[in-house]
Amino acid sequence: MIPRAADEKVDGLKSLPFVVVHLAALVLPFVTGVRWQWVALALFTYGLRMFFVTAGYHRYFSHRAFKTSRAFQFVLAFMAETSAQKGVLWWGAHHRHHHRYSDQVEDLHSPALRGFWWSHLGWILCRKYERSRVEDIRDFARFPELRFLDRFYLLPPALAVGVLWLLGGLPWVVWGGLVSTVLLWHGTFFINSLSHVLGKRRYLTTDLSRNHWLLALIAMGEGWHNNHHYHQNTANQGWFWWEFDLSYYLLRALSVLGLVWDLRTPSDAVKLAYEKYTPAQRAQLERESRFGTEDRRAPPTPPLAMLPGAQQPS
Ligand SMILES: [Zn+2]
Ligand SMILES: [Zn+2]
Repeated sequence: MIPRAADEKVDGLKSLPFVVVHLAALVLPFVTGVRWQWVALALFTYGLRMFFVTAGYHRYFSHRAFKTSRAFQFVLAFMAETSAQKGVLWWGAHHRHHHRYSDQVEDLHSPALRGFWWSHLGWILCRKYERSRVEDIRDFARFPELRFLDRFYLLPPALAVGVLWLLGGLPWVVWGGLVSTVLLWHGTFFINSLSHVLGKRRYLTTDLSRNHWLLALIAMGEGWHNNHHYHQNTANQGWFWWEFDLSYYLLRALSVLGLVWDLRTPSDAVKLAYEKYTPAQRAQLERESRFGTEDRRAPPTPPLAMLPGAQQPS
C-alpha cells in the first residue's frame, strides 16, 4: 500500500447524495412493502442499465470494441447515464487511465496500492477526480451531444425517475430506481475492487486482474477481468463457451438488428496464449491468484511488451 496524498480523501458534502440514496434504498422498501412484481422491476432496471454500462460506457466508449451509428452512440451514452455513474466522458476517460496504469502507482483505484474501500468507492467520492479528463477521450469529446450529456449527467437519471413515477408512483421509484441503483453501483464498483482481488489469473498481465464467474454474473460479463486486461479491445470478455457474458450475447442480438457492427473478438492465438507459458510463469500466476493483494510498489516484471499476445493500453 502507498500513502494517499493529502487531497485524496472522501469529501463529506460530495458523499451526501450517495449516502442519502443508500439510506432511502434501505428504509423506503419498508414503507412501500414488497411485491414480486416490484422485485422483478428492480432486477429488470438493474439488468437493463448494467448492459448499457458494460456495453456502452465500458466496451464502446472506453475501448471502442465495436462500431455503431452516431444516433445509437447517443442512446448508449444516455441509457448508461441513467445508472447515475457520472457522465460518459468522465467514465470512459477514467477507465482508459486505469488500463494505462493498472495496479501501478498512478492507478486511481488499485486495491493493491490504495486499499479495497478506496478502490471500491473512495476515489469516486473524492473531489480530486471530479474532472472529466477530456484529454484522454478526445475521440468522443468531439461530439457536442456527448459533451452535453457529460456536463448534465444528472439529467438522464432524473428523467428515468420521472418515468418511473409516472408509470408506477412511489413503489416503482423505490424498487425500479433506488434499490436497483444501489445494487447497480456496487455491482459495477466490484469490477474496480473485487476483480483485482478475488478470482483466478489465466493470463500474465502487469496488474492483478482476475477472472471470477460470480462477478461475471453480477456484472453481466465484466467479471472476466483478467481476460479483459490481457486484451482490452474485444466486445466479448467471456472468451470460452463456459464464460457467461450476457452483455456480449445482447450485443450479438443488436448486431443482428444492424444497430451495432464490427464486434471485435480475440484470435485463438490470444485466447490460448496461456498454453505457451513456462512452468515459472504458471507458478507466478498461481501465486498471484491467491485471494488478496500483494505489494505492487515494485515495477512489474516482466514488462508488458514482453508478454506474448498482450495488448498495449491505448
Ligand atoms: Zn481493472
Ligand atoms: Zn476496460
